[in-house]
Amino acid sequence: MDKEKIDLLGDNHVATSVDTPMLATAFDKSDDEKIEKIQFHFGKIMEELGLDLTDGSLSGTPYRFAKMYVKELFYGPDPKNKPKLSVFENKYGYKKMLVEQYITIDSSCEHHFLPITGHAHIAYVPKDRVVGLSKINRLVDYYAHRPQVEERLSLQILKDLQSVLKTDDVIVMISAKHLCVSSRGIKDKDSFTTTLEYGGCFEEATKREEFFNIVQKN
Ligand SMILES: [Zn+2]
Repeated sequence: MDKEKIDLLGDNHVATSVDTPMLATAFDKSDDEKIEKIQFHFGKIMEELGLDLTDGSLSGTPYRFAKMYVKELFYGPDPKNKPKLSVFENKYGYKKMLVEQYITIDSSCEHHFLPITGHAHIAYVPKDRVVGLSKINRLVDYYAHRPQVEERLSLQILKDLQSVLKTDDVIVMISAKHLCVSSRGIKDKDSFTTTLEYGGCFEEATKREEFFNIVQKN
């Protein structure tokens, strides 16, 4: 890809598919092996930037960076880290909307590897199954900890919830600030991005309004 196209794709924040694009070999190496490799390569990047890695303050940075990438910021691509979404029978027959709001989003954009921070608001109308509340937060956290674009993050969360809850009646709204918009490029400090994905009963405008009213009041 030529350099102009690379910049254009990044500045327009275009995603190419719902699934995170992964190599077939993505999990052949252990986490420790990945940390060792990334440590080496990041050290080289620092050297290219002219930094002296023998300095006491910088010498541990390649290791810290590599460990942070594999174990913290990007634990999400690995399916073995996916939270188990235990569902329960809807014994009380609760049939109205359940809203889980202000779920923290701590993600990174896949075009610049800079933070995306904000909140997700999620609602569903249960049929026969309900899910433990904190599991929704954990699912958001898991998908957020991949290199992401906000549209894909919304869709990945929506599709998973629809599949475990066995209903299309789910809505996912994310509002987040993108550091690649606020700290580089256009450098707009105040704007943020909202994405909305839904299915089933949320196709009806009145149902969406009910959801927006609950989210806005808090
Ligand atoms: Zn970006």
